[in-house]
Amino acid sequence: MVRILNYINGELIPAVSGEWLDNYNPAEGRVYSQIPDSNEKDIEEAVTSAKKAFPSWSTMPMSERSDILLKIAEGIDREFEALAKAESDDNGKPLKLAKTIDIPRASANMRFFATAILHFESQAHQTDQLAVNYTTRTPLGVVGCISPWNLPLYLFTWKIAPALAAGCTVVAKPSELTPMTAYLFSKICKEAGLPAGVLNIVHGLGSKAGQAIIEHPEIVGISFTGGTTTGKRIAATAAPMFKKLSLELGGKNPNIIFADCDFEQAVSTSIYSSFSNQGEICLCGSRILVERSVYDRFVEEFIKRTKKLSVGDPADEETRVGALVSEEHMNKVLSYIELAKAEGGKVMSGGERVVVRGRCEMGYFVAPTIILGLNQQCRTNQEEIFGPVVTIMPFDTEEEVIEFANSTAFGLSATIWTENLKKAHRVSHQLKSGIIWVNCWLLRDLRTPFGGMKQSGVGREGGWEALRFFTEQKNICIKL
Ligand code: NAD
Repeated sequence: MVRILNYINGELIPAVSGEWLDNYNPAEGRVYSQIPDSNEKDIEEAVTSAKKAFPSWSTMPMSERSDILLKIAEGIDREFEALAKAESDDNGKPLKLAKTIDIPRASANMRFFATAILHFESQAHQTDQLAVNYTTRTPLGVVGCISPWNLPLYLFTWKIAPALAAGCTVVAKPSELTPMTAYLFSKICKEAGLPAGVLNIVHGLGSKAGQAIIEHPEIVGISFTGGTTTGKRIAATAAPMFKKLSLELGGKNPNIIFADCDFEQAVSTSIYSSFSNQGEICLCGSRILVERSVYDRFVEEFIKRTKKLSVGDPADEETRVGALVSEEHMNKVLSYIELAKAEGGKVMSGGERVVVRGRCEMGYFVAPTIILGLNQQCRTNQEEIFGPVVTIMPFDTEEEVIEFANSTAFGLSATIWTENLKKAHRVSHQLKSGIIWVNCWLLRDLRTPFGGMKQSGVGREGGWEALRFFTEQKNICIKL
C-alpha cells in the first residue's frame, strides 16, 4: 500500500510520531493508501525549514522565482494523467472532470502567478510640492495555506502559487481526505528545483496538524479554504495573534431563472451547476429560483435531464456523477434529504444512495436529488448541504427573488439567467454575493478578485489581491 510522505526541508519523510492515517478511495469504499498523522512537532520542523529558506527565496530575482514556478506548471502538465487519476481516486469525482477542470486549472494557477509577479507594481504619490511618497511591498514571511477536499490540487495551488510568487515561504496542509495529488505535487516541486524549505507540505488531521499551523506564532499569515464552522475557529485563534487572514468559506448559492432567459442554455447549464463534482463545489447553485410563468416547464425539463445523468464508476467516460468524498459526508447528505422531507419537501428525483455494480459496490454514491415545495426559511434552504441536492422554488417579482436570494447567511456566488441586459445589471447590483454569473457558470478569469460576502468569507483572492495578501506594505514619505 502506498504511504504518502510529508515534504519538509526538501525531503519526503514520515511524521515524527511514526503514526499513519488511512486514506480511502470513496468510489470503492476501501483504504488504498496511508498518510502521516502529523502533529505540532512536524509543523515545528516545517516552520524551521520555511524560516531558513525565507531570506534567499524572498530576495531571489523575480524572474528566477518565476522560472521555477513555470517549471512546476510544466511538471503538472507532464504528470497530467497520474494527477487526474489520483484526484479521482481520492475524491470520487469522475476522472473526466479531473482532466477537464482540476488539473488544467492547477497548472493555470502556477502559470498565472509565475507570470503575474513579473508585472506586480507598487505606487507613488506626490503631495503637492511638499513631499513624495512611495509604497513598497515586501513578502509577508512564513505563511500557512490550508485547503479542502472538493477540488484538491486546484485549490491547493490556488493558495500556494501566489504565496510562492510573492516571495513567501509556505507551510501547507491539504485535506486529509484527498492528500494524493499534494504528495505527487511535492515530487514535482523537487524535480523543478524548488529550493529546500520554500514549500513544506504536512499531511494530517485539521484538528491536529491544521490547528498547529494556525497557532504557530511564526506563521504570520493564513490563507484558508474550507467550511464556515472551521473558518470561525481559525479566525478565533488567529485574530488575537494579529495574523493576516484570508478565509474562503461555504455557500448556499441562488441560481435565478427569469422567464426571458435563453431556456435551453439555462436548463443545460443549471444541470451542470447543480450536479458537477456531485454538487461538491462551493459555487454550485443549490437553490434554483424560477419565475412562475416558466416554473412548470423548467421543472419538467430539469427533472427529465437529471434522471438521465449517469451515476457510476468515476473511471468510466460516461459517468457524470461519481462518489461522495466519504461515508461520513454521504450520511450527512442523506440526512439532509430526510430533513427536507420532514420540512414538507417533495423529492422528485433521486433522494437515495445508489449501489454501483462491480468494483464500486461499496462506494458512497447518492443519486442527483431534486426537492420541491419548500419555503426559503427552512433549514434545507438555509444550510450548506454540499452534495448532489437542489431545491427548486417559484417566484413572482424581481423584488421577491432578490429577497429570496439574499435570505441566507452565505454570500459566495449567484447565477442569473435573463436576456434583458438592464435587468441583469440591476439584479446583480442588489445580490449580496462575491461573484455573480450572468448567463454562465464557473467561468473564471484569474485576474479578478475572488471571495465571498457575509459568512462565505473574509478577504479576496485571485489576481493582484492574492499577491497583495502575501505582501506587506510600507509607505515612505520624503519631504521635497
Ligand atoms: P473543512 O473546513 O472541514 O476542512 C478544510 C481544511 O481545513 C482541511 O484541510 C482540514 O483538515 C482543515 N482543518 C479542519 N479543522 C481545522 C482546524 N481546527 N485548524 C486548521 N485547519 C483545520 O472543509 P472541507 O469539508 O474540507 O471542505 C468543504 C467546505 O469548503 C465547504 O463548506 C465548501 O463550501 C468550502 N469551500 C469553499 C470554497 C471557497 O472558495 N469559498 C472553495 C471550496 C470549498
